[in-house]
Amino acid sequence: MMKETGVAIIGAGPAGLYFANLCEKAGIDYLLIDASNEVGGQITHLYPEKEIVDIPGIKSIISKDYIAQLLKGVNHQKIVLNTKVEKIEKNTVFAEEFVVKAQYILLAVGLGFSSPRPLGVEHENECSNILYHLKKFDFLKNKKVAIFGGGDSALDWSKEISKISNDVHLIHRRTEFRGNPETIKDCSNLNLHLPYVPYSLEYDGEKATSVTIKEVRPEGEPEHLEKIAVDYILVNYGNVAANCNFGFKREGLFIKVDKDNRVNDNIFAVGDICDYEDKKRRIAPLIAECDKVFKIIQS
Ligand SMILES: Cc1cc2nc3c(=O)[nH]c(=O)nc-3n(C[C@H](O)[C@H](O)[C@H](O)COP(=O)(O)OP(=O)(O)OC[C@H]3O[C@@H](n4cnc5c(N)ncnc54)[C@H](O)[C@@H]3O)c2cc1C
Repeated sequence: MMKETGVAIIGAGPAGLYFANLCEKAGIDYLLIDASNEVGGQITHLYPEKEIVDIPGIKSIISKDYIAQLLKGVNHQKIVLNTKVEKIEKNTVFAEEFVVKAQYILLAVGLGFSSPRPLGVEHENECSNILYHLKKFDFLKNKKVAIFGGGDSALDWSKEISKISNDVHLIHRRTEFRGNPETIKDCSNLNLHLPYVPYSLEYDGEKATSVTIKEVRPEGEPEHLEKIAVDYILVNYGNVAANCNFGFKREGLFIKVDKDNRVNDNIFAVGDICDYEDKKRRIAPLIAECDKVFKIIQS
């Protein structure tokens, strides 16, 4: 089946939804295609209940409410879910069950389809209390939680969970964080372990009961291990991509764009998928990228 539209937007995460809002407001025809059965991308799948405080113009909002707000500005008839796009050629998008001819194509596929990067310790797969995504976190109230990672997700969850538990440990392999350390500056009850890596799990046949971590020391120094009792372990090591390249050259997970967020000719990429110097994978930059691309296609 062949469809035609003005802008084919691939991915209905915050970037795709925001761009669809711009098109809707300006009366530009569009089609919003997502492989998942829900809109909202990482927000819906990974952190629907979290507070977001760094969206320009919004003081504070619960993530799922932000998606609901974006969804209000989109014509639902123009959203196609459960449809993976595998290839793009010039003006043509090849989706699973149809082909779309579009004047412009916007890639807003985030980090694509991915699976979480594991801790990498024995018995990890057998432990039901090792989590890689959190949709809700109220069940962690007063629990012993070990959080691994040094990016924004690890820091965000450390902040939220340390509000409801006094036994939260953040373990990172470096002394500096990749994410914004300001996030945890007021978390006086958070136990920091820097620089440490996971070493082994102690488990009761079903759940991890504690995790042993190893200090990162210069070679030749004696080994130093610490054991942390846990109810839950939360791993924030990012994702291993299992994505398609759509027929473009990708640099690892990402697609390089020029200063106009252009991949080539009439194809643009915005949000987490695109890459340029100093790119930040957050919502504020993707809004700026969408505004920029929208101006270009309107001119
Ligand atoms: C735990 C966590 C907390 C965060 N907290 C914040 C925060 O507080 N503030 C902030 O600014 N940012 C935060 N971020 C980052 C923010 O969520 C991302 O920058 C944002 O989701 C990127 O949006 P996106 O639309 O580019 O991609 P995504 O949200 O990844 O959405 C991409 C969409 O594309 C779809 N897709 C992928 N491949 C295909 C395909 N081949 N065909 C069709 N559809 C496809 C996916 O199904 C998905 O719906 C957080 C991230 C995490 C993980």
